[in-house]
Amino acid sequence: MAFNDGFRFVADVTAVDGRYLGQLPLDMDWESAVQAAYWVAVRRGVLPPLMRCASATIEPSWHSERGAPRVDGVRITCHGADGARASATIPRLYFRDAVETAALQLVAQGVLAAGERFYFEVCAYPVPDRARYDERAGDVSLSGAEIPQPLPLVADSLETWLRGASRCGDAAGSGEDMPVFIPEQVIAEAKQLARQAGDVEWGGVLIGRLYRDTATPEIFCQVTALIPARHTVAARTRLTFTAQTWAAARAALDLRAKGELVVGFVHNHPFWCRDCPAENRRHCPLIQQPFFSRDDVALTRAMFPRPFNIAVLLSDLGEADLRCDVFGWRGGMVAARGYHLIGGVPQSADDSATDNGAATAVDTAAAVANPAAESNRPRRDGSPDASCANRPAEHRTSADLQAP
Ligand SMILES: [Zn+2]
Repeated sequence: MAFNDGFRFVADVTAVDGRYLGQLPLDMDWESAVQAAYWVAVRRGVLPPLMRCASATIEPSWHSERGAPRVDGVRITCHGADGARASATIPRLYFRDAVETAALQLVAQGVLAAGERFYFEVCAYPVPDRARYDERAGDVSLSGAEIPQPLPLVADSLETWLRGASRCGDAAGSGEDMPVFIPEQVIAEAKQLARQAGDVEWGGVLIGRLYRDTATPEIFCQVTALIPARHTVAARTRLTFTAQTWAAARAALDLRAKGELVVGFVHNHPFWCRDCPAENRRHCPLIQQPFFSRDDVALTRAMFPRPFNIAVLLSDLGEADLRCDVFGWRGGMVAARGYHLIGGVPQSADDSATDNGAATAVDTAAAVANPAAESNRPRRDGSPDASCANRPAEHRTSADLQAP
């Protein structure tokens, strides 16, 4: 990855009671942040639509009040092949995953208890040698080591699509997200397959098309079909997409030959609270809000990293119908988002294609398994409900931004 971040980022960690706990070096993965900045530019028509941005510069955005070396976020400048550039700022919240990972060493040292909350601030320091090295690496990437493929975009009127759809699942901050259209039939089919899976998690790959609005540069996405992931490793709180899952999905895409691409995935959460007393269920965070686990985020990051990728989650909350929530990328992080429900004739994926033995082209990059068992804990909630007996042990700490 030739992203030029000629800076060393560290987190200053403070206990909830104000004690200073130390400074942690951060191992930053800039991929999601760069693709988020790139996607903003593509949707505005500033940079050409490719599968991913291959070259970018990352600079600290210094804290507005306290100044360097404290940072508020990062300024990312994406470079197009023709010399075009576009910049966007990614908020400080982006550091939280790296901070929580780094904080595991404080847990190992006994400085923090497992699951304990803490505050952090991020500081950045220049590393001149690395900046020079990465500049050269950036040049290499531009000259052809990796040339991302163009995104297939179909021209159509977004306004016409919006007229035939109903908006669902609005979430805070989702107003600026790329519009996504999902057929009722695809959700109905997913719910039926999830019900059939019983008490284990089930999943499928969502395929679809990307469109460019004829009136504005905006891009929107249509889910066209669901390919049941037949070769997953499923368990009660865990779902793994294997190399065979991807081979089957690719075979189905080739067989349909409709210029579609993978736009995301769907999976379900069984009724984890089945054995909990009714009184406890009333307060259980797993029931109060859509729950996208750390491992759901890890799966999305590893296998569905494109900024247009979405994740549909079906949750069994003990009601007659499964709850449907949609998540997607926003600012380099996975967040709950809205979507547009459309009717019409279902375009079911040809099931026979998923068992097509001719599919040999396994995407090794995508064949990374999701290794960790799912931790059934709402991501932002620092006080997991002890009444939910089925939750595996949670060993991660929980980082919060330092109050200014
Ligand atoms: Zn899950």
